[in-house]
Amino acid sequence: MRNGAIEHEATDHHLENWHAAPVDVVLRKLGVDAGCGLDDAVAAQRTIVYGRNIVPSRPGRGPLRRFFSQFNNVLIYLLLAASALTFAIGDHIDALVILVVVLINAVIGFLQEGNAERALQGIRSLLPFTATVLRQGQRRQLTASELVPGDIISLVSGDKVAADTRLLAARGLRVDESALTGESGAVDKNPAPVVADTGIAERTCMAYSGTIVRHGTATGVVVATGAASELGRISSLLDDIEPLDTPLLRKMAAFGRRITLTVLLIGSAMFGFGMLVRNYSASEMFAAAVGFAVASVPEGLPAVITVTLAIGVRRMARRRAIVRRLPAVEALGAVTVICTDKTGTLTRNEMAVREVITPDANLDVSAAGYAPHGRFTSAGVDIDPGAHAHLPDIALACLLCNDAQLHRSGEQWELSGDPTEGALLSLAMKAGLDEPRERAAHPRIDVIPFESEHGYMATLHASRGGAWRLFLKGAPERVLPLCDTQRRCGRDSALAAHDWQRRIAAAAGQGMRLIAVAMRAVPVEPATLGFPDVQAGRFTLLGILAMVDAPREEAVQAVATCLAAGIRVKMITGDHAATATAIGEQLGFPLPVHTITGAQMDAMDDVRLGAALAATDVFVRAAPEHKLRLVRALQTSGEVVAMTGDGVNDAPALKRADVGVAMGRKGTEAAKEAAEIVLADDNFATLAASVEEGRVVYDNIRKSIVFTLPTNGGEAGMLMLAILLGFTLPITPVQILWVNMITEVSLSLALAFEKPEADVMARPPRDPDEPLVSGFLVWRIVFVSALMMGGCVGLYLWELGHGASLAQARTVVVNTLVVSHIAYLFNTRRLSASALCREGFTGNRVALLGMLAALLCQAALTYASPFQSWFGTAALGWDAWVRIAGFGVLLFLAVEAEKAWRRQAGARATA
Ligand code: ADP
Ligand code: MG
Repeated sequence: MRNGAIEHEATDHHLENWHAAPVDVVLRKLGVDAGCGLDDAVAAQRTIVYGRNIVPSRPGRGPLRRFFSQFNNVLIYLLLAASALTFAIGDHIDALVILVVVLINAVIGFLQEGNAERALQGIRSLLPFTATVLRQGQRRQLTASELVPGDIISLVSGDKVAADTRLLAARGLRVDESALTGESGAVDKNPAPVVADTGIAERTCMAYSGTIVRHGTATGVVVATGAASELGRISSLLDDIEPLDTPLLRKMAAFGRRITLTVLLIGSAMFGFGMLVRNYSASEMFAAAVGFAVASVPEGLPAVITVTLAIGVRRMARRRAIVRRLPAVEALGAVTVICTDKTGTLTRNEMAVREVITPDANLDVSAAGYAPHGRFTSAGVDIDPGAHAHLPDIALACLLCNDAQLHRSGEQWELSGDPTEGALLSLAMKAGLDEPRERAAHPRIDVIPFESEHGYMATLHASRGGAWRLFLKGAPERVLPLCDTQRRCGRDSALAAHDWQRRIAAAAGQGMRLIAVAMRAVPVEPATLGFPDVQAGRFTLLGILAMVDAPREEAVQAVATCLAAGIRVKMITGDHAATATAIGEQLGFPLPVHTITGAQMDAMDDVRLGAALAATDVFVRAAPEHKLRLVRALQTSGEVVAMTGDGVNDAPALKRADVGVAMGRKGTEAAKEAAEIVLADDNFATLAASVEEGRVVYDNIRKSIVFTLPTNGGEAGMLMLAILLGFTLPITPVQILWVNMITEVSLSLALAFEKPEADVMARPPRDPDEPLVSGFLVWRIVFVSALMMGGCVGLYLWELGHGASLAQARTVVVNTLVVSHIAYLFNTRRLSASALCREGFTGNRVALLGMLAALLCQAALTYASPFQSWFGTAALGWDAWVRIAGFGVLLFLAVEAEKAWRRQAGARATA
């Protein structure tokens, strides 16, 4: 019966005008109590009825569409036309072979593209997002897919809304609905119902799935999930499946089109020249022109580049960096400056208060993690915290003005919330306070949460006997100006500001992070807390807490790696300048460590800021808007900038940066959404590792190009030479198709798996404007193309001159092309370092396997009779193989000699 009731509700729910109904009606309809949320049993039941909260992503291209898109290519049209014409001339076998090879190429392209797309989607699923839900009276973090209608959820700034939600209460809530309505700019929200026929964009009491909370907090009740949500209904708008498209691939596609055009022009000219000047027959010239076209176009290169990118993305995921947008892989390799948060990224973010600076003495605190047990000592003497003149007040402020929670799990104490607050809570418990009791005795009326922009947190509390108190904690520079008194001997006396400044500077100089706590009595019962209440000042300073947050060991190493790789590291923090300087020194930043504060940045114009950047690596007392300014200024001076961030206000800077990097653990959904890369472990070392991977990917793409283009150059040159000089074509179109297929599939793919070269993080970043294939690579392509052409034509003429048949001579040419490519593959594994070492031959298992596969295919082509009749080949004697292998070795040595000469010239130039 109960089941039936829910079934009935199900149809009801989605027809409902939730935005027009008052809150209590909404809650009644959904069968939920706002104070304790759904029961687990009911939630499980509803999951069955409504399904999991997953928005179906826009269907990708179906396999059939993807397969046929492989044929959507001028070159393929050309080949199909050639096949038809060949058939008309009566050469049925050739026509069929062309068709089959075209088909095989399409299948290979299809499989490779599918692999790459799957790899990218798999990686995207590593980024689930969570929602804060009230179930059975407990607040829980659930993955968004577990939500059901009726769930009570809370929203804070930076959250992505996980389901369509009717707001129950809101405070300063502003939501960015551009994902849904396409309109940028955040919309104010509040729980008041609106009239029934209001459009989605104006339903101010609803927060829709997929939109982002830019400001404020709220609670609400889920009214629609998954496909039933507004986002689900318009899921075609979703851009979840990133197309396999990057600037590099676009550049390659344009390059391909240019080549195709050039080839058609040269091909027609050749056709005319051959017919009119050299008296070739029309069918022979047609074959030559088609062969030339097939030879010249590197049709497999885009697939190889896609695969290389996908492999890079996978390697980064293995190193805990999750790529959200493919172009970031390329941009990472060109990064010249990394701007990074200090707290939590360069440091461990496992805080512990080590010193309590009270009005009359400094107390030392012992600490082990967040465990709430420890001793207080003053000048080495144990003190009783309960009897101390100042400690109980300080501890109470730390406990009440705090949103963190500590739970015991086995031997460990675990934190949920901000580590800085966790450390303060742990301190309060060490001082003997009982958390639940204090919270009950001083109920919180209102709060201003901490934000870097204002630099403090404030809470308003009621106490027994009708007293009200305002607690303030935050950066000392923000809190001290708001205080006019301090405690001494139980009485308030005037603030000794100079004395405090001296003690603050001393603690910060040791790399300690400082938080001041203060208090003010409120005479009449207040209802809310606003900024003016805090800015009114007249606080009594209670004390200052000093905590350590040590640099991560691996970050020290990673900073060194980046500096060696010519990448500047700039640290951004809200901390005190002295604290940041000390941490910068511990991290191995170039000395002396200069700092600029956010306020100083505000006072500088762009020109002065640009000039100051060169000498400054540490930015202190900085807020998110300074990050944006920093990225802009760095980009103006030509830098390629990676910027990290976690908060909702960091999103603009992340978007603006060349590579935006969000924190996977402490980052908000807003930051992740804006970023290209998410660090699963929030660790700077992971970022440095992905820069390395980015460089490797770029290297490997260049290697693939330098490896592939000489195939085309050699073949095309050979055909042109034959026609200019008027001898029989040394290779037929189907043979050319064969060679291209073998080299692309078995050989060039191996380069996508190539490991980093030794110097990959020892050389400066590449110039982002530099063309993909520049200077010496163009020369290398021309050089190897000429060698291959010379070798093939030479051996061809030699064979013919020594009594070989045309079929045999052509078979020698085909084998020479493939064997010299195998040799050249080993040259290309390193662009300039020598390949003459053991690693140079055995270092890449895929290359060895590819070589084996290619040789087996060549044996089949040469000796198996079906292949002989399809491809017009003939068996060869061993002596022919010796000549072929000899040429392969020669080519290998020639390229190595060229590299050695270039290395020496380079050494002379730098000497
Ligand atoms: P960071 O980016 O280095 O974490 P923040 O802007 O978060 O810098 O913090 C800047 C300063 O604000 C800290 O040095 C500390 O004094 C103070 N602070 C940090 N967290 C809190 C908090 N939760 N409540 C009050 N003050 C805080
Ligand atoms: Mg912080």
